[in-house]
Amino acid sequence: MARVEKAIEILKHTGVRMTPQRHAILAYLLDAMNHPTADEIYKALEGQFPNMSVATIYNNLRVFKDAGLVKELTYGDASSRFDANVEEEHYHVICSGCGVIRDFQFPYLSEAEHSAVQLTGFKVTGHRMEVYGLCEDCQKKPH
Ligand SMILES: [Zn+2]
Ligand SMILES: [Zn+2]
Repeated sequence: MARVEKAIEILKHTGVRMTPQRHAILAYLLDAMNHPTADEIYKALEGQFPNMSVATIYNNLRVFKDAGLVKELTYGDASSRFDANVEEEHYHVICSGCGVIRDFQFPYLSEAEHSAVQLTGFKVTGHRMEVYGLCEDCQKKPH
């Protein structure tokens, strides 16, 4: 629960008012740590808040993003996923069967960033690495 309290403090400082819906979305994100889409958050909470719309979820995710509490992982066409693990640099492994995204720790590849600066002259702001494969559940499923 400590992470939720901390996040609420951060939001207070940015002048964001806490509502029951906002609290529930934040708690879900921080608790699940499963990089959900806005739709998945909506489905998980709609029973609790029958009047809530998907737009409400999007609005709140934007507020959390602006406050630095979540990172948005965009995938071109597909809908964005939201990562509440902003405290530690980490990489992702993504299941090509079910789309689940898991965090894993690996030394930050700052050398790749240095090379990019040297070879392209870009002002580098960061990078994202994703490993693809089949999760343990999907490996068990018959093909
Ligand atoms: Zn899978
Ligand atoms: Zn992550």
